[in-house]
Amino acid sequence: MESLVIFKLYTGLKYLMALSLAAWVYLLFTEKNKALRIMLVYAPVIVAALFLFPLSRKAFVALLDGEIYYRVLWTIPMGIIFCYGACRFFAGHRKLGLTLSAEKTKITNTAQCARFLNYDIYVSRSQDIKRLKNGKRQRVYYGVVKLRMPQEKWAAKLLELGAIRISKDVSGKERWKAMPRGKLMNRTDIEILSRYNAEVRGLYNYYSLAGNVSTLNHFSSLMKYSMLKTFGSKYRCQVRKIKERYVKNGEFTVPYTTKAGPKEAIYYHSGFRKQDKPQLGQVDILDIYKKYSKPNSLATRLRSKQCELCGAECGGLVMHQVKRLKDLTGQYEWEILMRKRHRKTLAVCPSCHAEIQNSMKS
Ligand SMILES: [Zn+2]
Repeated sequence: MESLVIFKLYTGLKYLMALSLAAWVYLLFTEKNKALRIMLVYAPVIVAALFLFPLSRKAFVALLDGEIYYRVLWTIPMGIIFCYGACRFFAGHRKLGLTLSAEKTKITNTAQCARFLNYDIYVSRSQDIKRLKNGKRQRVYYGVVKLRMPQEKWAAKLLELGAIRISKDVSGKERWKAMPRGKLMNRTDIEILSRYNAEVRGLYNYYSLAGNVSTLNHFSSLMKYSMLKTFGSKYRCQVRKIKERYVKNGEFTVPYTTKAGPKEAIYYHSGFRKQDKPQLGQVDILDIYKKYSKPNSLATRLRSKQCELCGAECGGLVMHQVKRLKDLTGQYEWEILMRKRHRKTLAVCPSCHAEIQNSMKS
């Protein structure tokens, strides 16, 4: 009891006491750093216990001096606890004025994956050992950043296209069933096939960097069956009959005609290998501008800075144009070139242009 009385006498700084106590409770629940926890959370408790416990008080007074006893409390760094606690508290709630999207700013353990652009990104924990070329054995897969294609994404694609239907059987297990796509039924054979091929190829192109992209074999086989069923509904016959009619040398083959003669198209069969490099190409050109970047456009030919006739590097190319290809006699080199290329224009350097003009006058 005496301890409590002394304690009450001592506590002139009531507000600091209260604030420190609040900071202490806050730190008790939030501080993760071990050293700080011992210093600011556990040590003060021990000191306070020693102070309030009658036996330890008697020991202090007997061994040392009554004066020392009061000073035990001073060893509790109340000011520090309060300051540190307050800083921690406000740092935790500080706002920077930036709004971060919770979806895009995913902070997670690397063993768990983060979804970004429909890829799952994770760090491999594989302990598998690989024998290197120099004969050494090494764990080369551990800690490597990997990309994975989420299964629900291609499953969702199948559902979105209407190529499958998922039902649950008696035991609650999912059953995936390929379905015919009614909307494609009225198209021509080659249109249906091209549509399916484009969809399969499109998804593969997108996920070709993923380690498990070969899973798309499953996607592809469901798509193929859906296509067979679409053909079946179109011709009102069984899938077996469709296979008999269209499968040649083990490939689903559709004949079609072009200006150049009859051709054949087959269902996608080039596999789903993982690619190490992303596809290059016109990824930075928006679809609406693609029509302007044709290799044979006047602008591109003029920009190439190479004379189409003599091949010389030249800054100021000129477009030479004729009215009709029929009028060309094939007497000069430029006429032969135009007829060969089937073009009424040639981007030429000024000297070649002068030559052409001369030849036309004669
Ligand atoms: Zn030239």
